[in-house]
Parts: sequence; C-alpha cells; structure tokens
Amino acid sequence: MIDFELTETQRAVRDFLHWVAEHEIRPVALQADEEGDVPLELLRRLKELGVTLDTLPGGGASGGDGEAPEHQRNRLAVLAAEELAWGDAAVAISLPGAGLGGPPVQLMGTPEQKERFLGIFRDPEPRWGAYALTEPEAGSDVAAIRTTCRKEGDHWVLNGTKLFITNGARASWNVVFATIDPALGRAGHRVFVVERGTPGFTVGRIMEKMGLRASETAELIFDECRVPAENLLGGEERYRQGEGFRTAMQTFDGTRPMVAAMAVGIGRAAYEYTRDRLREELTLSRPIPRYGVIAERLSWMERELHAARLLVWQAASMADQRIPNSKEASMAKAYAGTVATRVCAAAVELLGAVGLRHDRWVEKWFRDIKVFDIFEGTGQVQRLVVARRLFEPYGLRV
Ligand SMILES: Cc1cc2nc3c(=O)[nH]c(=O)nc-3n(C[C@H](O)[C@H](O)[C@H](O)COP(=O)(O)OP(=O)(O)OC[C@H]3O[C@@H](n4cnc5c(N)ncnc54)[C@H](O)[C@@H]3O)c2cc1C
Repeated sequence: MIDFELTETQRAVRDFLHWVAEHEIRPVALQADEEGDVPLELLRRLKELGVTLDTLPGGGASGGDGEAPEHQRNRLAVLAAEELAWGDAAVAISLPGAGLGGPPVQLMGTPEQKERFLGIFRDPEPRWGAYALTEPEAGSDVAAIRTTCRKEGDHWVLNGTKLFITNGARASWNVVFATIDPALGRAGHRVFVVERGTPGFTVGRIMEKMGLRASETAELIFDECRVPAENLLGGEERYRQGEGFRTAMQTFDGTRPMVAAMAVGIGRAAYEYTRDRLREELTLSRPIPRYGVIAERLSWMERELHAARLLVWQAASMADQRIPNSKEASMAKAYAGTVATRVCAAAVELLGAVGLRHDRWVEKWFRDIKVFDIFEGTGQVQRLVVARRLFEPYGLRV
C-alpha cells in the first residue's frame, strides 16, 4: 500500500532541506551558473550540514549508508531531491558523494569493494564518485557501448571514450562500463571501478552546456588504461548471466524517481516564482484584464506538478517496499520531465520580458529543465520502456 501522507521524519527532512535550499544554495546559484562551477566552499559547507548524496537520510542516489530506515530510504531521497533542486539542480547534482556510481557498487560489489570504494566518503573532505556509461555512439542504446576491456595477467586493459559524465573529472573513481566484445551485446558488458590516477586514464573536455551550467560534465578517455583485476565489480563469476548490463538498468530503476523529483523541484520553483510575482502585479493593477487566463495557467501548473509528484512518490515507495518499479520509475521520469519543461516554458511566457532576463531565475530554470528529459534515459526511451511493460504479458515486443 502506498501512503501519501508524510511521516514526522519525512516532514522534518523536507523542511530542513528546504531551509538549506533557500538559505545556503539559492544565494550562490545564479553566480555559480554564470561562472559554470559550484564553489567548493559551498559544497564543504553543505557537507558540514550533512547534505551530501551519502549522508542524506535517504542515502541519496548513492544508496549510501544514510540513517533512514530501509523502508523509507527512497521516499526520503525523492523528498530531498525535490527540495534541493528547488534550491538549485546544478548544485544538487554536484553534491559530494558516490552519486550515480553508488548503486552499481552497492548492487554488484563484494564486501571488500564496498568498503574500499564507499568507505572514502567518510572522509571529512568532499569526495565524489561517478557513473560512466554514455559514449559518442551509445546513449539511449546502452547495449551499443564500444569501450573495450581485455584481460592481461592481473589487470584489465580498457580503451575507449565516455561522454557527458557528471562529476567525472572531480571523482575519486568512476564506475566504467566496457565490453569484452561489442559483437556479444549485453552479454559482453563488464563493470569496473577506475580510480583517478590509473595509468592510461585521462580527463578530456569539460563540456559547456545550455543548462545546469554549474555542474561538471566531463569527457573521459581510456587509452590502454590498466585497471587492477580486483576493480572488476563483483568478480568475474558475476558476469555469466549478462549481469553487467542488468546492473546498468537496475541503477536507473532507483535513480529515475530521484531525477524525476528534481524535475518537479525545478518546475515548482518556476511555478512559485511566477505565482508570487503575478499575485503582486494583480494586487497592484485593477481591473485585471488577464485574470482568467492567468488563473487557469497557474492552476494547470500546480495540478500537473502535483500529479508528477504523486507518480514520483509511488515509484519511490514501491522501491522501498521492494516491489519491481521499472514501469512506474519510467512513467514518473517521462511525466515529470515533460510537465516540468512545459511549466518552465509557461513561466517564461506568463512573465513576459522578465521571464527572459538573464539575471533572473526563470530564464535559468527554462535552460536547466531541458536536460531532465534527456539524462537517465530520454522521454522517448521512458515511454518505450512503459510500452514494453504493457505489451510484455501478451508476448509482444515493442
Ligand atoms: C548534463 C548531462 C549529464 C549527463 N550525465 C551522465 C552521466 O553521469 N553518466 C552517463 O553515463 N551519461 C550521462 N549523460 C548522458 C545521457 O544519459 C545521454 O545523453 C542520454 O542517455 C541520451 O543519449 P544521447 O545523448 O546519445 O542521445 P541519443 O540516444 O542519440 O538520442 C537522440 C534522440 O533519439 C531518441 N531516441 C533514441 N533511441 C530511441 C528509440 N529507441 N525510440 C525512440 N526514440 C529514440 C532520443 O529520445 C533522443 O530524442 C548526461 C547527459 C547530460 C546532457
């Protein structure tokens, strides 16, 4: 059963993070966007406050050892994600912690690997992990990765390029997906933890983006990169049944609701800003010629975001109850990404010229939101996942 009432703990977490978003993150976010970087002092300060992807009560995207009881870890994580993205999504995805790299280590790692790779986040200094799957020729089509790996003695040798990797340059390690033979498709995938400083591993470009400009998006290059055999996640036995590819997919089941929650957070920020500004205008100018149109648009924004949030909470609650949720996670991601994009566009529209001003929030949210319909699986791909689940029981493939 999914209960949509928040518990006392959940309310307390949400309220604390809202405070952090408003008083710590917002004052810095516009300048961070302008400069294309999140100041390290802010990330240090947030870590001191316990706001990292690993120490959040929900455990964040890393599935880290947050203090939340197991049965509300995901629910808390989506509440946290919405509030932090309301503050600023670029800062939220730059928070120290294992990030998207956490779930594969949790899912596949041996006890020694978990301690070795996740233990570093107990360090008082900010540290990052990252998740490197996407390649120039393999985005949505994950099975098409071309980064190769071959075994040589007690090492694996990796060759290839990864693109658009969040926190990939600052990370202490990257979870890297490679293949022993591209012709094998999913069965050939292997998953490595590649530590910074590994010979043959270099960071290429830091990519300029339209939105989430303050978040670091890196190109990673592996050129005869020699990775110790003990960094193959889970050991070789784990890969007999296509486990590498499955791990990539399972990671998304946990993280798509979080990304959807962030989209709701940005959409809500744009909606609240628009509502408050228009309320001021409407109070000052009477009669109000556009009142009916504005009221209708605002109520549409609120309604759509509310619906998206409920889908997010459902997907997260199912994960907490260990109910398979890949259809619901994809529905939440597809819906929230689209709705929040439309809400941000409506905010620009309703505010007229103010909506386009580069020194104001709405223009930034309009740029930031687009990526939420792209990363962690595009909107089209989410809709495809849902369609597949609908037809599966009838033995039909979409
Ligand atoms: C800011 C940012 C951060 C990112 N962070 C990471 C990260 O940390 N780690 C990582 O590995 N990757 C990351 N990515 C990459 C991201 O996951 C990919 O961009 C995404 O999976 C889409 O892949 P693509 O860009 O190659 O687009 P493509 O797969 O080439 O898609 C192009 C278009 O074709 C559509 N399309 C593709 N296949 C189908 C299909 N079967 N049916 C219908 N339509 C289809 C897509 O929906 C899209 O509209 C990040 C990307 C961005 C922009």
